[in-house]
Amino acid sequence: MSRRLVIVGGGIAGLATAYYAQRAADDAGLDVAITLVERDDHLGGKITTDTPDGFVIEGGPDSFITQKPWAIQLCRELGLEDRLMGTNDAQRSVYVLRGGRLRKMPDGLMLIVPTRFMPFVTSDLISWPGKIRMGMDLFIPRRTDESDESLADFIRRRLGQEALDVLAEPMMAGIHVSDAETLSLKATFPRFIDIERQYGSLTRGMIAARRARSAASNGQANGAGKTTVFMTLRGGLQELVAALRSALRGTIITGQGVAELQRGLGGYTLALDDGRTLAADAVVLATPAYAAADLLRADHPELAGMLDAIRYVSTATVSLGYDAASFDHPLDGFGFVVPRKEPTRLLAATWTSTKFTHRARPGTVLLRAFIGGPRREDLVDRDDEALVGLVREELRVIMGVRAEPSVARVYRWPRGNPQYDVGHLERVDRIETLCPPGLSLTGSAYRGVGIPDCVKQGQATAEQVIAALREAQPVAAQP
Ligand SMILES: Cc1cc2nc3c(=O)[nH]c(=O)nc-3n(C[C@H](O)[C@H](O)[C@H](O)COP(=O)(O)OP(=O)(O)OC[C@H]3O[C@@H](n4cnc5c(N)ncnc54)[C@H](O)[C@@H]3O)c2cc1C
Repeated sequence: MSRRLVIVGGGIAGLATAYYAQRAADDAGLDVAITLVERDDHLGGKITTDTPDGFVIEGGPDSFITQKPWAIQLCRELGLEDRLMGTNDAQRSVYVLRGGRLRKMPDGLMLIVPTRFMPFVTSDLISWPGKIRMGMDLFIPRRTDESDESLADFIRRRLGQEALDVLAEPMMAGIHVSDAETLSLKATFPRFIDIERQYGSLTRGMIAARRARSAASNGQANGAGKTTVFMTLRGGLQELVAALRSALRGTIITGQGVAELQRGLGGYTLALDDGRTLAADAVVLATPAYAAADLLRADHPELAGMLDAIRYVSTATVSLGYDAASFDHPLDGFGFVVPRKEPTRLLAATWTSTKFTHRARPGTVLLRAFIGGPRREDLVDRDDEALVGLVREELRVIMGVRAEPSVARVYRWPRGNPQYDVGHLERVDRIETLCPPGLSLTGSAYRGVGIPDCVKQGQATAEQVIAALREAQPVAAQP
């Protein structure tokens, strides 16, 4: 008898769950009917690509990190190897806005930790007292307490306040669109904890990592096929979504959400927005945590309460395309980040057509600005015209750009960024123990926000669900 699996949410986590569930069922010789339900008309969730006038514009994520291998592996499995595209590392500088001026980050910083002496000491980004304080990392004893701490507490302890303000807050908390004072170190940068434990100093640990990396890359082919720290797909990340969709044999319902979820003796019943119902032996909720909470509130109030406690903040991205001839600021880097103390309404900006050269036709340039986050969530509610005007005004002040964009695109992400507050992983452990049999939660709210982590979680969830369905396989009636 066929088993029925329903996956709610067609973002990358839901799609990866469906893909790996299909594969695990095939491997186990198990007949599983997989249905994926997505409320939006399009699949992909935060992944959304537009291609106006020769530009490739990402509304949400624009790339994935390759040190976490799950996304690049999935691309390869799906036959997208030829579509993979690295960053333009000849121009890999990142700028930091400090004192109203864009200053280059020194070469040799690894995750904000200096691993090369000269570029660091000659940089004008950090003051002399700030540099000396960062150097004290070599002598400060390691922490012995195993409890979670915030990114801010950790960086202040090891590298000092200035490194926190100028580097860690905009670069690291910025990746999570979070406040460094509340961001859980354990849940977001566990590597720092390991390095402190192993080397007693971030600087020593990062220098060792840099040496190991350059030894490993010696002799590797350079050029077109090179794997860079961040990779993307030539036509945008929507290509990954399209490839997953074509690989799935089950039923995909879009434009319909799951409005209710009930557990009965024979499994689960899901009611769709239009009143249709689906029956399931197993359900995976790959939605934001607050959407999962809404579906679970009636029958599992404690679980719903824990899910509600995962906070979200809102952001928006504004992409502007220009004729290169009208643009007079050099775009010799991947873009800039903004420390909290700078009086601008931008969180950061990517110089997209430098970072990924195929994102704009020759003779044009593409930029993308980030707005909102914990500091200025209110801005996200402004209309498109106001947001484009705001970004243009800030780019004029910061970069002197007065040119008229030929293309402008605004994407809002209300409650788009889950916040991994201190203690997050303990909360997720508790959430998982509260899940009733046959129900799983997966996705960016739980064990990693980036695309690779969402793929990894989808795969792990799929394998657990298929194993459980296999165990519960009804024994065929004997004649
Ligand atoms: C602006 C921005 C930039 C980012 N940049 C990067 C980046 O460069 N690299 C990177 O790795 N990560 C990046 N991220 C993070 C990453 O994109 C997301 O964490 C990831 O895509 C989330 O995937 P998900 O499947 O967990 O959730 P989502 O993509 O949010 O998908 C959840 C889906 O569930 C659906 N849903 C909700 N409720 C229901 C319901 N009741 N019934 C049916 N469907 C429902 C929603 O419509 C949605 O499609 C970025 C995020 C943002 C917002």
